[in-house]
Amino acid sequence: MALQQLNKAAAVINLEDDIKEILSHPQREVQVALPVRMDNGKIKVFIGYRVQHSNARGPYKGGIRYHPNVSLDEVRALAMWMTWKTAVLDLPLGGAKGGIVCDPKSMSQGEIERLTRRYAYAISSIIGPYEDVPAPDVYTGPQHMAWIMDTYSILNGHLEPGVITGKPVEVGGSLGRNESTSRGVAIVVAEAAKKLGIKVKEATVAIQGFGNVGSNAALIMAKEYGMRVVAVSDSKGGIYNKNGLNVDEVLKEKEKSGTVTTYKNAEKISNDDLLTLDVDVLVPAALEQVITEKNADKIKAKIIGEGANGPTTPEADEILYQKGVFVIPDILANSGGVTVSYFEWVQNLQRLQWSLEQVNKMLEERMVKSFNDVYDISKKYKVDMRTAALVLAVSRVAEAIKLRGIWP
Ligand code: GLU
Repeated sequence: MALQQLNKAAAVINLEDDIKEILSHPQREVQVALPVRMDNGKIKVFIGYRVQHSNARGPYKGGIRYHPNVSLDEVRALAMWMTWKTAVLDLPLGGAKGGIVCDPKSMSQGEIERLTRRYAYAISSIIGPYEDVPAPDVYTGPQHMAWIMDTYSILNGHLEPGVITGKPVEVGGSLGRNESTSRGVAIVVAEAAKKLGIKVKEATVAIQGFGNVGSNAALIMAKEYGMRVVAVSDSKGGIYNKNGLNVDEVLKEKEKSGTVTTYKNAEKISNDDLLTLDVDVLVPAALEQVITEKNADKIKAKIIGEGANGPTTPEADEILYQKGVFVIPDILANSGGVTVSYFEWVQNLQRLQWSLEQVNKMLEERMVKSFNDVYDISKKYKVDMRTAALVLAVSRVAEAIKLRGIWP
């Protein structure tokens, strides 16, 4: 998928084959075997990856994912998308991704900590504040980042907060980082609504995924934008109420029972049903490849704001574009996370702390500008928003590669 998208954008801008060839390959791929003493006394070996796609514009940047389905190929695609994401937002960073094949839901907190520290040790020679700066992704959060910072700092003999972002605020994290991905989704969805003449207030929203991105998007869209969140889901299924869900109550239910599906005041639906609901805005905020050629023509939403990375396949993109669905692509829609990661890194390097107001204001300015840059390109070349975002990103990275040159 990632290569197909790159080829499509390359054709639009007549990108030189040499540069395309460079961009088609990650600069470095590392696989590590991680022995971990489990609570039952036995040792289990987990496989982890870190793929560094490009550092043409700055240190590699991107999250670390814990999931049973993690594979080298998936991490590779996600690493390339990070290069585009930082470039679309014009951040002085590159792109990378990490992952560990594991099922964190079946592990204790102690096992997860030992696994995380062993992984941090295993990749410690290729990460660093000026080399590669990891962050959270699926099933990882501030606590994991604190452990990685601590392990890296012990190995280096001094505290190094700038080695990783998405940390708890108490140990160098940025205010606003935790909900920044979701805030970014809300900002660009509101911009898209303006372009399409849709009223943001009372616009109906369905959100797939109720992790960090999905749940905070539901809260921000409902409470700050006055939108009507009618459906949400998690890995166990979804819930729907056409009059709007009480997001606070749904969150409480998720905390209590571990799933949104036990929430009383709504109808039960499947994850597939959620995608084809008659709503104004659809936010896929779970995993890759959920909108495919099989369901794309059944989608009724006017705007899709991709909270997840890679939720829409290239075939589905084509169908949605023909139908006139306005897709805000992942590398733009969910870039609020890495944007505030960048702010966190800058604060760490300078030993500063900015206020929440300042962080949110800077985030909004960057996201609105990038949205409009991409929108203008989509009009200029008469292409969908994904291709437009890629055109912008690929041009910026290509320019950096050309200016720096190849050595030796
Ligand atoms: N994992 C997030 C993403 O896919 C955040 C990356 C970061 O902050 O470096 O964009």
